[in-house]
Amino acid sequence: MGSTATARRRTTQRRRPEVAIAGTSTQLRDFLNALDSSVRTGRYEILGRVAVMQTDRGSIEYRGTGPMLAKQLDDDGNATGQLLCLNEWPGALPDLRDSIGKPCSSCLATCDECEAGKRPCINCGGNGKTFIKRIECPDCAAKIGRFDINCETCRGSGAVVDPQDCKACEGSGKIACTLCLGTGKMSTGKKDGSTERGATECEACEGNKREATMKPQPFINFLHGRLENMPALGPIRKMVLQNATPDPDKLMLVIDVMPDVEGNLTVMLLKDVKAGSPMYLYGGRVQVA
Ligand SMILES: [Zn+2]
Ligand SMILES: [Zn+2]
Ligand SMILES: [Zn+2]
Ligand SMILES: [Zn+2]
Repeated sequence: MGSTATARRRTTQRRRPEVAIAGTSTQLRDFLNALDSSVRTGRYEILGRVAVMQTDRGSIEYRGTGPMLAKQLDDDGNATGQLLCLNEWPGALPDLRDSIGKPCSSCLATCDECEAGKRPCINCGGNGKTFIKRIECPDCAAKIGRFDINCETCRGSGAVVDPQDCKACEGSGKIACTLCLGTGKMSTGKKDGSTERGATECEACEGNKREATMKPQPFINFLHGRLENMPALGPIRKMVLQNATPDPDKLMLVIDVMPDVEGNLTVMLLKDVKAGSPMYLYGGRVQVA
């Protein structure tokens, strides 16, 4: 039942922008031209680069390639409430890291938790034997059927410990290091396997220490509909930006999106799907926190 409701809502959402702007193509063109003109003439105030865009179809992760957003300013230099995209559509969204994998081979260093991939066995304390099993003393109880209080072997107790090979390490006293999976090498996530705290990040794993496969992030997954044949991504609920203004207390800017008077949220309009096309934020009301 829930999924049917969701499916129905999705369908409605997908259609909404096309319905909302039916018969307004001239208006839309004028509106977009005005945005272009603001970008061209520099009538804006830069906010920052989009890192993540939260939509009803999941989050778009930009991985440093997000568009730069700015507040549009009117002729008097006052914010109009409209946001501008200063970048062109790069033709695709960046691939995502699928980060479960073996240790990154580009930043290996000697594992400092073990010796050549082996650690002392915890179960036996590293000596390979366990001392739990007790048997009759071979020099008294087992031999004569009763214990001898003067027996030196069992100190008169009639029983001795029979050392057993430790099951965890099969008697070797060593187990494979869990940190480096027995390889003796671990990834530090720093360039060339550096262990210095301030060292630069390993480029191959981006500091994640694990190898990863890249998986595409098709923009079609975020396609909300089309306005005048322009793909519209969204609807956008929230945008997180890297603050362009240096402020140690506010490295990120959060932009919340509210429905506009027509009930629409913001969509990201692509003038065309091909790389180099302008992008526009359209509809909705934005609140910069
Ligand atoms: Zn004995
Ligand atoms: Zn052991
Ligand atoms: Zn190790
Ligand atoms: Zn690495």
